[in-house]
Amino acid sequence: MDAAWRIEVTPWTADAMAAGFDIVESEAVPGAAREIPPDLATCADCLRELFAPANRRYRYPFITCTVCGPRATIIESLPYDRARTSMRGFEMCPACAGEYHDPGDRRFHAEPIACPSCGPRLRFLSMTGETALRAAVDVVAGGGVVAVKGLGGFQLVCDAINGESVARLRRIKGPLLLRAHARRRRRRPQAYPHGARLPARRRDHPGPDPYRSARSKR
Ligand SMILES: [Zn+2]
Ligand SMILES: [Zn+2]
Repeated sequence: MDAAWRIEVTPWTADAMAAGFDIVESEAVPGAAREIPPDLATCADCLRELFAPANRRYRYPFITCTVCGPRATIIESLPYDRARTSMRGFEMCPACAGEYHDPGDRRFHAEPIACPSCGPRLRFLSMTGETALRAAVDVVAGGGVVAVKGLGGFQLVCDAINGESVARLRRIKGPLLLRAHARRRRRRPQAYPHGARLPARRRDHPGPDPYRSARSKR
């Protein structure tokens, strides 16, 4: 065989990696490329843990790991480290800290790492945790509309097969859309030429109809 094609194989050991590979604190470098990573939907491994009764994050809604969870939503400034996210107020418990510092763990340096004993809690009115979740579900089941703060902002939730609930959601959403447009006009006046009217009705503002799928199911 030609010498140019020879491949040399060196056995790999975990010790060799530990000696030469570290994740160190980020350093702010002027002019360096700054990209904010996007929020990522809950991964299959986290979903499995979420519904495993023996797991310490069983039914914990803020479950996350290195391949899923919030990023853009929680970042306050770059570089992306926990200390510069809204998670900095939640001190890791010993179990989470163990996972965070273990190179063999799925949550090694997962900045938004959290669990029921150290992380954010679900809240609805004055209730917390599972009670809050049940109460919010009851409101939706009873025809109400709930604003759910999730990854990337608020989502208005109602029973999609209840005509009255959907109509109520549309009534609520109309003024909210107008307010969002007004805010954008203040921020980017060039997007709305002088004298342009704000879209007052949905038919002036064609686009994907989020309720169409709900209607077609009925
Ligand atoms: Zn995950
Ligand atoms: Zn924890």
